[in-house]
Amino acid sequence: MNYYVNENIRRTERVFPMQGRMDYLRYDMNENPEGLPKAFVDSVLSEITPEFLAVYPEPDRFVRKYADFIGAKPENIMTANGSDMAIRYILETFGEPGKDVVTVTPSFEMYRINCSLLGLRHVPVPYNEDLTISVGRILEAITADTRVVVLLNPNNPIGNVYTEEELRMILEKTRETGSIVLIDEAYHYFWPETFLPYALSSENVIVLRTFSKLFSLAALRLGIVIANPQLIHYVKNGRLSFDVNSMALLFAERILDHPEMVSELQRTEQEGKDWILRELRTRGYECRDCRGNFIFVRPKAEASLVVQRLEDEEKLLVHGYGHPYLKDFIRVSVGSEHAMEIFLEAFLRTDRIS
Ligand code: PMP
Repeated sequence: MNYYVNENIRRTERVFPMQGRMDYLRYDMNENPEGLPKAFVDSVLSEITPEFLAVYPEPDRFVRKYADFIGAKPENIMTANGSDMAIRYILETFGEPGKDVVTVTPSFEMYRINCSLLGLRHVPVPYNEDLTISVGRILEAITADTRVVVLLNPNNPIGNVYTEEELRMILEKTRETGSIVLIDEAYHYFWPETFLPYALSSENVIVLRTFSKLFSLAALRLGIVIANPQLIHYVKNGRLSFDVNSMALLFAERILDHPEMVSELQRTEQEGKDWILRELRTRGYECRDCRGNFIFVRPKAEASLVVQRLEDEEKLLVHGYGHPYLKDFIRVSVGSEHAMEIFLEAFLRTDRIS
């Protein structure tokens, strides 16, 4: 039959995440391998009534609480179904078909995929050969055709970060070109420096946060867009009516009610990361900048073999790469010291040359 299919959607190739991951030890998607304390989860679940489930979600109360939490105003904030959906909204709102979106690549691939789906021109800025990012290359890529510049801070899968000086140079250029600067701070809580003040005070800066990483709610899908009220207004105009569910909003509110639990999560993950980096470095492993809740490490055996052995022999998932710059490394989510001990034992058994 001769029906119409949107050309951008038809030609975009997708690889969807693996299913059945609950049967594995999961260190492949930068989730918290262990999740929130069980007692906390039970206590939030006990608040859920049939009526609660029957009512359409209302994000405003959470938005007010979150605004207080980060020192912003509710008009600076919008919720979305994970930062995944926020990225789509932002590119739909500020991307122009045929014009440029500049991102350091390879990186979190939904930027490239959304560009393809929306008919935006993805302009990849490659890493230097030593996997550092050169801001000069980003500046060169920004032109009058640039509608959006995406910076991941910290970056994924290599945990590079940008200095304030570098951001200022990018802002100066984008003020001339009239481009939006989207700063993805998914890994903010593992790297305390933030560009949030720029989102609150600039005309063209958006900061993106998520509840999937430190806050351990990847299943519930909650992403946060932070920007000046005018930008938030535009993004909101394009949103679906009820894209964030009530369970996500309730869990997120209760997390904000328990700052001591947030500090404890941070402490536990930091301890786990310090421990695993120390253990790996003593054993002669090269570990790259690790500013997120993941480490980027070079096995002694071929990385793709180690990924496969971990999966087959240890029922443990880590992230491997096909890209020539990244193919020798694996990315491993960080959790508690206990979670990292489990990983290390399995890793040392599988990182063999024979
Ligand atoms: N941004 C970055 C940099 C990420 O690494 C991820 C997930 N790994 C996301 C956004 C998406 O997060 P979520 O949709 O769960 O909020």
